[in-house]
Amino acid sequence: MKSLSLLPFLCSLSLLSVVTASTAYPSIPGTDSGECSLAGVETINLPPPPRREVYDNGRIFDITHKYVPEMPVFGSSEGLGNFLWLPRSMKNGSLANNSAFKLDVHTGTHVDAPGHFYDNYYDAGFDVDTLDLELLNGLALLVDVPRDSNITAEVMKSLHIPKGVRRVLFRTLNTDRRLMFKKEFDSSYVGFKEDGAKWLVENTDIKLVGVDYLSVASYDHSVESHLVFLKSREIILVEGLKLDDVPSGIYSLRCLHLRNVPSALYCCCALSLFLLSQMLMQNGVTAACHKYS
Ligand SMILES: [Zn+2]
Repeated sequence: MKSLSLLPFLCSLSLLSVVTASTAYPSIPGTDSGECSLAGVETINLPPPPRREVYDNGRIFDITHKYVPEMPVFGSSEGLGNFLWLPRSMKNGSLANNSAFKLDVHTGTHVDAPGHFYDNYYDAGFDVDTLDLELLNGLALLVDVPRDSNITAEVMKSLHIPKGVRRVLFRTLNTDRRLMFKKEFDSSYVGFKEDGAKWLVENTDIKLVGVDYLSVASYDHSVESHLVFLKSREIILVEGLKLDDVPSGIYSLRCLHLRNVPSALYCCCALSLFLLSQMLMQNGVTAACHKYS
């Protein structure tokens, strides 16, 4: 079961390798400079496969970050490093190309499990399998946060997010500073202060919180803010979103995370998600949020 459930993600990485082979496989031992090409094998230059940009009359925005060696890692100046390689290569005589990768599950765009900051939740099995799939998929509001502050209670009040809105993606100064594109971790990133997290929990209906750097919490409130958000096990945190060039407004969010990763790795998980344009807006939440569109 475990290998089957992981297969779609592995396949998506394989597709990525076709498009950007040079960056996807930065250092495959023994295969530098094309020296391992098999004599007599014809090289066919194929155009890259088409990317689906439109679906059901709505534009698709991929708001996940691509895994690259230069991707930042929380608390590290080294970045992700080489995480993907090709142990079986047709250029080296294998019948098929077969990739392998190794990376921390808290890497890049990911969700936090309740057990990420509560050890008793972790022991009880509250991992990403327990997250509400209905909550991970549905209408979401993308808002711009004032650029001169962390997300405090005052900032949350100023955003005037209507009651009934359940999913909000917060775009901050982190996007302007392109922090997710810088290898060295930057502790001056913007995130939720503890009072901002408390205000959200106590005064809104938001159950999915998305942010544009590696932590939903500001660096100095890393533990406090996570504890506030994760205590009820009802709020899902999506971190490391790629929100460049996406207009603020209301979207249909598709957030799919990995299941059945061995429990020892279960703090957080990678995911794929997309936003469809406002054309997919429906009643209810949309009516309450029309001023953002
Ligand atoms: Zn987190």
